[in-house]
Amino acid sequence: MIIALTATTQLGGIAWLIGRPFRQSLLVSLASYAVLSISAIWVAPAFGRTPLSCVPEKGGAHAGIIFCVTNRHYVTPELKSALNDIVDDLNTSFPGIQLGVLDASFPFLNDFPMLPHLSHNDGRKADLAFFYKDSDGRPLPGGTLRSPIGYFAYETGRSACPATRFDLHWDLNWLQRVWSKHELDIDRTSKLIEAATANPRIRKVFLEPHLQKRLDVNHPKVRFQGCYAARHDDHIHLQL
Ligand SMILES: [Zn+2]
Repeated sequence: MIIALTATTQLGGIAWLIGRPFRQSLLVSLASYAVLSISAIWVAPAFGRTPLSCVPEKGGAHAGIIFCVTNRHYVTPELKSALNDIVDDLNTSFPGIQLGVLDASFPFLNDFPMLPHLSHNDGRKADLAFFYKDSDGRPLPGGTLRSPIGYFAYETGRSACPATRFDLHWDLNWLQRVWSKHELDIDRTSKLIEAATANPRIRKVFLEPHLQKRLDVNHPKVRFQGCYAARHDDHIHLQL
């Protein structure tokens, strides 16, 4: 339990331990978790991390509520400022646009593993949601997701990897029919990648090769993450 809660929320394992000696242990654990998580907002800057906004705002980047509740919305000030610049850039083409962020990093400690990611352990990486359109072709607000956690709702396209059972490149074909059918918004998503690659602080952007082709993005910073890491046709990964 401690390992599972620590691996998913960083502070949940401690909160669970605090609650153990009490009769109302679940209640005490939940209250401790809330106190620890709220305190992290003020303490994390001393460790070189800052939280992303959890509230959607026009012309800004925000983390989805599930990432905020699980303390997975922390970045370095440099990445926060790069994300702000990227949204400013997008605003010139799409005024009032809002950018949805998925997993970033935990509030404390470098090299602390954040499952299932291999590299989100230093505040210098963040995953961005794609932009979508509804069935009538109207743009949906940034941060609208196809699956409850933003991941695993893959765009259709030819995989660059062989089907292997023991890697993080999960296909989850059986889940695909469950997700909403929002259509990928090519204009806003390709503009987002263009803004990210144009930002001098951003060094790498990961995207599946079939989407690089479909979005017509061709830049040395846009890479394929390889076959052993998670698929990147459900989100965009960027890093400083
Ligand atoms: Zn990532």
